Amino acid sequence: MAKILPKNSARIFTKTPFADMKICNKCGVCIKLCPMKAINKDTLDINEDKCIRCFSCVKRCPKKARKIVYKPKFLVSKILTIKNKNAKIPQIYI
Ligand code: SF4
Ligand code: SF4
Repeated sequence: MAKILPKNSARIFTKTPFADMKICNKCGVCIKLCPMKAINKDTLDINEDKCIRCFSCVKRCPKKARKIVYKPKFLVSKILTIKNKNAKIPQIYI
């Protein structure tokens, strides 16, 4: 899998981490941890352009309120495109 994925694949295949505000207790840990200062202190929204998808905020959230959001359609189409670059010759076994 790692061989066929581009270097910045986390950014390509995932959206910014989502915060479930029903679980979040607004402790501010994710804001302090974010290396890019991408999380808004008041709303906890993440700036799409600044976020590098390191997922520190997801891993270290004490309430497990932050989740990774994948872009599944894009991921599947990208993998299939790359894997099917070279057509395979059918083989017959008797
Ligand atoms: S670390 Fe988790 S619980 Fe704390 S503010 Fe961020 S999302 Fe909310
Ligand atoms: S994934 Fe990393 S860069 Fe993006 S908001 Fe979370 S801690 Fe910041």
